[in-house]
Parts: sequence; C-alpha cells; structure tokens
Amino acid sequence: MSATGLFTESDRTTVDRAARLAEGLVAQYFDLAHDDWIKNPYSLMTWKEAAKYLRDANVFAQTVRFDSRHTGKIQRAKPQDYYGVLLADPAILRALLRPQRHDLWTLGLFVLTHELVHIVRFRKFGVDFFGTPREREKEEEVVHKITREMLAGVESMDSLFSLYESGIRI
Ligand SMILES: [Zn+2]
Repeated sequence: MSATGLFTESDRTTVDRAARLAEGLVAQYFDLAHDDWIKNPYSLMTWKEAAKYLRDANVFAQTVRFDSRHTGKIQRAKPQDYYGVLLADPAILRALLRPQRHDLWTLGLFVLTHELVHIVRFRKFGVDFFGTPREREKEEEVVHKITREMLAGVESMDSLFSLYESGIRI
C-alpha cells in the first residue's frame, strides 16, 4: 500500500489476478463461451490511468463505456461497445484500513466480480448503460444479488456483503 493512496505495482498484480478469477466465475455463471472475454475484452484501469473528471472517490469502482465509433457522443450502448472497469484505488485502500479488515485479494475479487456482472448485463441482457436513476438502482440490486450468489462461501466475503449492503456503492 502506498502513501499516496494509489495502488503499488504489487497491489496491481493482486487485482489483475483477482480479475482473472472474476472473469472465470462470471463466464461460468452466465455460461459464456470459453473465449468470451478474449473476444470482448475490457480495460481494467486505476486512477493513474483515468482522466480526472472520471475519478469518484466515493465508490470502489465504476464501469465506463467507450463508444466504438469514436464520435464522442453519449448514446445508448451498442453490442460492439467497449467497456472498462475503473478502480478507485483510494477508496479501496481506505476500506482495507477499516477495523473489520479485509485483504486486497478478497475486496478486489468482490469489486471485480460485481463490475464484470454489470458489463455482461450491458452486453448481453439489454441493460441500458444510461438508464434512469431508478433503473440503475434496480440494476444495482440485481447485480449485487448475482454477485452474492456467485461468491457465497468464499472466505471473509460475508463481511464485504454487509459493507456493500450498508450503502457503499460499487
Ligand atoms: Zn454496481
């Protein structure tokens, strides 16, 4: 953990490993083809790699969408759109300091599984990336329920479910 609140290189390796596992779990849950994540890659970014206006210190992570036609216009998501997960290193590292301690591997797996479920639902289930606040709130509930189901039984995950359910948004 660095003093700047950003991931160190070794933190980044840990979250990359957690991402690989999350990809496998999500692929299994949604019965995706074995090469689905290769054919539909996403970017995993941290604050260092993100434009300042995208940074939100109040969430652990957010999904971002890149318009495949590079028009720069905001529009409804298309199947060929390209998604990314932006991890908020400071929020994640702060959560690791809570009295109820978590480790980066477990928290990373939780956050990444949640975000990848969002991406699959945007891509394959017609969920609108630009849904109304009410639609987004409902979608959060669905995504959390699926994530919970997928990670049930993973060691020390229960306290993370409670943390999320207490209002922290990812
Ligand atoms: Zn979410």
